[in-house]
Amino acid sequence: MKLRVLPVGLALSLIVGMAVTPEQKVAKTVVDDEVKLTESVQQEADADLVEDTVGVSESYEEDEEDTSNQTAAHYEKGKRYISHRTIEGREYSLLIDLRKWGNHATENQLLHLRELFYEVYPQMYDRFGAYTNAPLDVVLVIEDRDEGVAGAGGDTVTIVDKHLENSRNDFDVLSHELVHLIQNGWNGKYLEYDYDSEKFAEYCRYIYAYKDGKYNDEHWELPDINAQNTREKSIRFFVWLDMETSSSNRDIIRDYFEICCDKKTETANWNKAWKNLFKGTKFEGKTIDEVWNTYTKTDFARYAAKAPDFNTKSELLQKTDVRNYIKKHSFSQNYEDSLKK
Ligand SMILES: [Zn+2]
Repeated sequence: MKLRVLPVGLALSLIVGMAVTPEQKVAKTVVDDEVKLTESVQQEADADLVEDTVGVSESYEEDEEDTSNQTAAHYEKGKRYISHRTIEGREYSLLIDLRKWGNHATENQLLHLRELFYEVYPQMYDRFGAYTNAPLDVVLVIEDRDEGVAGAGGDTVTIVDKHLENSRNDFDVLSHELVHLIQNGWNGKYLEYDYDSEKFAEYCRYIYAYKDGKYNDEHWELPDINAQNTREKSIRFFVWLDMETSSSNRDIIRDYFEICCDKKTETANWNKAWKNLFKGTKFEGKTIDEVWNTYTKTDFARYAAKAPDFNTKSELLQKTDVRNYIKKHSFSQNYEDSLKK
C-alpha cells in the first residue's frame, strides 16, 4: 500500500475571530491549515442548488482505495448539492458546494465525504456539539487551489480539491474540520495550550473516524510517545485519558470540552482545572503531570496505531480496542441528564 502522509490537520495556526450570534453565520473566520474560508453560501440564490439524491452503490461500498479515473456521473461542477437526514432525533443537512471544484476529487470521494458527515458528525454532536449549539446545517466547499489542505469556520468546511487528489483516502480530514465547527471558536487565552484546538480535533478524528477508522488507520497514524513526547503535543494522551476514566460516572473529556468552551479558565489556572476534572475518577488527588507520568510508562503509549491494510486492525486496536471501548463507555444520556440537574 502506498503511503501518502501529509500534514493533515496539524496546523499550528488557528486564528479565531470575534464571537458570533447564530444569525451572523459568516462573521467568524477560522484560518486552519492555511486555507482562508470564503463566506457561507446558504443565503445566496439557489438556481444552482440540487437535491442530493445520489445513492450509494454496491461498488462504492466495496471500493477500498479510490481511483482517480472515475467520472462525475452525478455531481456536476458549478452546482451545489443538498442532502438531509434525521439521526437520533436531530435533523442534519449537508450542502456540498462544487462551484469551485476542479474535478480533482472524484465523485466517489464526494460520496464518501457525504456519508462520513452523516456517520461521524452526529456522534460528535451528541457528545460535544449540542453543548455549543454547533450548526446542524453544514456547508462543504470543495475548492480548486494549489496550496493548503482544509479549513473550517462558522457552518462551513473547505477542503482543497487537489489535496483529495493527492490523498485519495484522506476522508477523515473532514472529521477533523467538523470538530472545529463543534468547538465554535475556542480561544487560546482560555486553553491550557494554544495547540489544544488542534489536539482535540485530532483526538476526535481518531475516536470517531469514518467506518470505524477503516480509511483513517491505514492512512493516518495516531502519534506514539516517541513522536509526541510532551503533554502539550500528545494527542494519544487524550485518548488514553478518556479510556482510563470513561468507565467512571464522569466523562472527563466532555467536561474538559466544556471548560474550553466556557472561556472562564485562563491558561495559568489549568492545573487546578485538571484536579477538579479528576474528582470521582481513579486519578482523584493527582496532578495532571503525575497522570501524564503514568501514561508515559504504559504500553498504550507505544503500540503502533497504523493499520497494515484496510482489513487489519492496528496493534493498538488489537491490544486495547480503545475506539469501541470509549464509544461504549464515555457518554450516555444519563450523563447528559445529570449535567442538566
Ligand atoms: Zn485543524
